[in-house]
Amino acid sequence: MVEYNLAKVGVEGSNPFARSRSVKAVVRSERCCVDRGGKDAGGEASFVNLIELNMKIIIANWKMNGNVGFVKLFIEKINQVSTNNRIIVCPPVSLVSFFGNFRYHVGAQNCFSRIAGAFTGENSPQLLKELGCSYVLLGHSERRAIFAESDDFVYEKWLAAVEQNLMPIVCVGENLQDRTRSSEILTRQLSRYQQKDLHNTIFAYEPVWSIGTAKIPSAQEISTTVAFMADMLAHSINYNIVYGGSVNAANAETILACPGVDGILVGGASLDIDEFRSVIENCNVELLETDQKIPSRTRNS
Ligand code: PEP
Repeated sequence: MVEYNLAKVGVEGSNPFARSRSVKAVVRSERCCVDRGGKDAGGEASFVNLIELNMKIIIANWKMNGNVGFVKLFIEKINQVSTNNRIIVCPPVSLVSFFGNFRYHVGAQNCFSRIAGAFTGENSPQLLKELGCSYVLLGHSERRAIFAESDDFVYEKWLAAVEQNLMPIVCVGENLQDRTRSSEILTRQLSRYQQKDLHNTIFAYEPVWSIGTAKIPSAQEISTTVAFMADMLAHSINYNIVYGGSVNAANAETILACPGVDGILVGGASLDIDEFRSVIENCNVELLETDQKIPSRTRNS
């Protein structure tokens, strides 16, 4: 078992994703000071407090799709879009190096739990960082189902990603047969992540029955589930919760407006460049302009 020194991980001194309501007003007055769509110099993710800046998170998961030509077209079109939200695109890892001139962020779809060694076919978080990834999807339902990834294994990967300052996007969610007991499934999947500092983890609530099916939970169901997750993580800081499952240009804005939802994870619709562009454009609104629309929970302990 690899020993991880969590004390030294994370972003020195800053708390980019913290959601303390108490600093909201202060940060709002400073919102113009950051590049709200792009990267910091050097291609690093901007470690700013997204939520305090009214930014939402829009993640594209290409799965094992796309090619070099598609990347070029995608970059050409998506680079033309200005947004006040954070865009993260997760292509197959073999395409990451073609994203050099992408104005937004790039993530991987998986990583291994070790930094180096005899692990044929795997990629370490360190290598992914070198390649230009700032984020990594972990525990996607397809990896849990097809590659039998357990909650423990996903957590080991999380530790390794955090150790390398690669921001994890941990996917959780229930299968169709477990729909009526989603809280039990989420409790099991999230129980390992109840430490104080979650190191900028994004948790993606993805009901498996919603992925690629055009079936989505009601806004009420999404908010209730996200509130349940936030309750589980009530003693933690530095995390966000996004929703994934059949998100498209027509429903993205509504889903983003659900109380407690910090962003969306888009699968199939991100492979249609015009559709994904519309997702970004449709969500490019001041969703959190009034206190009424701001989720009431606080993610600082
Ligand atoms: C996914 O695979 O994570 C996903 C959300 O897919 P889709 O948007 O196609 O349902």
